[in-house]
Amino acid sequence: MSDTKHSEIEILSYSLFSSADWRREKAKQFPRDAERNLAAAELLDKLSSEATDLIGSDLDRELTTATSTMSGAEIAEWNDRRSEFIRDVGFDWRPSASDLAWKLISKCWIVRKRCSICFGPLGRHMGNNADPVNNGRCCDDCDRTVVIPARFRAITAAKSEVA
Ligand SMILES: [Zn+2]
Repeated sequence: MSDTKHSEIEILSYSLFSSADWRREKAKQFPRDAERNLAAAELLDKLSSEATDLIGSDLDRELTTATSTMSGAEIAEWNDRRSEFIRDVGFDWRPSASDLAWKLISKCWIVRKRCSICFGPLGRHMGNNADPVNNGRCCDDCDRTVVIPARFRAITAAKSEVA
């Protein structure tokens, strides 16, 4: 193993690729379910290659920021959550590679229990959706002082475009 750190999107792409292999194994093991597993494998392969286009993108950087200072325990939890998440892809859920990256960012901040804006504690439950500021979660303070004003600005901008 080299000590080169892989970006989160590289890991995502590789995980999708291994998940496709796993589905093909399942298809051999369970012929009655083969069609579903093979269709899922095909999607996973496609997503794995789509994900490589996102390496080095803003989404990749955002994900890498969210994971970069995780503690050992958080990394362990994150690895579990990421595998769980990828296992769901293919049957009922047919996302795009960027949908996957967005969801991962949000999950990552939940694991960290940190606000993606001020990096303070996330607070109650799982915090708030930080869209349109970023793709993560945020604390109540940042929701009130940063995210909600940004949403108003976005609405006002959209209205003035229409007018
Ligand atoms: Zn905050």
